[in-house]
Amino acid sequence: MTRHLNACLETQRRACRLSPYPSLTERRDQLARLALMTKRHRHAIIQAIQTDFGKRSDIEIQLADIQPVLDAVRYARRHLWHWMRPWRVSMPWRLLPARARIAPQPLGVVGVIAPWNYPWSLALMPVIDALAAGNRVMLKPSELTPNTSALLSRLVTQYFSPRTLCVIEGDATTGQAFSALPFDHLVFTGSTSVGQKIALAAASNLTPTTLELGGKSPAFVAGDADFTRAAEAIIFGKGMNAGQTCIAPDYVLVESRHIDALTSALSRAILKQRPSAQDATQPLNHAHHERSEAMLAEARNHGCRIIDHGSHAPALIIDPNQGLSVMREEIFGRSLPVISVKDSDHAIGYVAERPHPLAIYVFTHQREQQRQWLNASQSGALVFNTTLLHHAVPGLPFGGVGASGHGAYHGRHGFNRFSHLRGVFYQPTHSPATQLYPPYRRWLLKLLRLG
Ligand code: NAD
Repeated sequence: MTRHLNACLETQRRACRLSPYPSLTERRDQLARLALMTKRHRHAIIQAIQTDFGKRSDIEIQLADIQPVLDAVRYARRHLWHWMRPWRVSMPWRLLPARARIAPQPLGVVGVIAPWNYPWSLALMPVIDALAAGNRVMLKPSELTPNTSALLSRLVTQYFSPRTLCVIEGDATTGQAFSALPFDHLVFTGSTSVGQKIALAAASNLTPTTLELGGKSPAFVAGDADFTRAAEAIIFGKGMNAGQTCIAPDYVLVESRHIDALTSALSRAILKQRPSAQDATQPLNHAHHERSEAMLAEARNHGCRIIDHGSHAPALIIDPNQGLSVMREEIFGRSLPVISVKDSDHAIGYVAERPHPLAIYVFTHQREQQRQWLNASQSGALVFNTTLLHHAVPGLPFGGVGASGHGAYHGRHGFNRFSHLRGVFYQPTHSPATQLYPPYRRWLLKLLRLG
């Protein structure tokens, strides 16, 4: 395997040397191929994902796996000319009339390691930004979605030269060998524990990383919120993909005097959105199902109040003990703890004491409370009065902070992330700045004191 990996990397490195700066037309063509590949084989993609999951809603696949790729390609193709253009920066007066610019330059070969939960979009979204920035890409999809990964590999071979994009299938052992390659940048989307290993492997090559990790994203429902609307937004985010979404609301905080009202609203929202198992996605496999049910059983055995709406829908756990696994681990399943706090300040304190999450969802229309959350909390994203939808805004950087990862991508942020922003200085033939060269004149001191 290592020999194959090295050969792929060498092929792409050679392509970088031969053509270090792919033109706008070439990049737009590569992006169009990604979109064409996704559009033309939409049904095969849906089938492959459904086979991997056993049961997954086809609407959720279109919404969260196919559409994001098509939208991101369209956005990048439209704005790429602008992103690629060098931009001027201001010049200190002492150096005038010199000029300075920032010129984005491709990094070279970018490695991408993808997870299983959205096996099409999370594999291709970093690829879109990396190709837009003029890089070559090696992609390792998850072994837990073998049908989707095999389809991806077959289609990429059909639509791309291995000099531009190649897919390496394999498990964690392949992942280890992959992350040890001396890439120019390595993007990893997955769990925090594996992310730590990736960071260590990349460090030995001084390879910069973008780590898109998980964690526990909280939702806070303030007293002024419309509980019915808040509950519907929370259950939308929690119910999608059977809770297996990195930015799913992991637990809900609410002022203690409102906990019963919010719990009832959440129950109503579950019954409205998930009346039967018909449109529901099931956990990826038996092991994931068992883990999710074990979390719920543990809470039940500890005497927690649980409101269960059937195995296809979110289950509410009221005020669980902090020592339980639902409160220690990222849930990634159907349990939804609802926790009472005294007020908004306590909710901010509760979140601040814990590792920085990927997203915080706050339900309030009060400007002052919104401002407090904005200034006093830290997270990858802060979303008011809904869940998940920030992911669909291509102008927003998407990524974590602290334990939820580092480095954000999507749109221009992804383009910049996978580019080297090179500083370029143009000295004109005649410039007073040459007076700065030695031997130093005494009057220079006076000039420097001018500020
Ligand atoms: P995972 O960490 O188990 O695996 C992700 C990828 O890493 C897979 O391709 C796997 O083969 C590879 N891998 C596993 N061990 C490796 C090793 N030692 N060295 C190198 N590669 C290795 O994650 P998962 O179970 O596929 O995904 C679920 C996790 O991903 C959750 O924690 C979720 O929150 C997170 N996630 C984050 C985002 C985000 O954008 N931040 C998006 C989706 C999922």
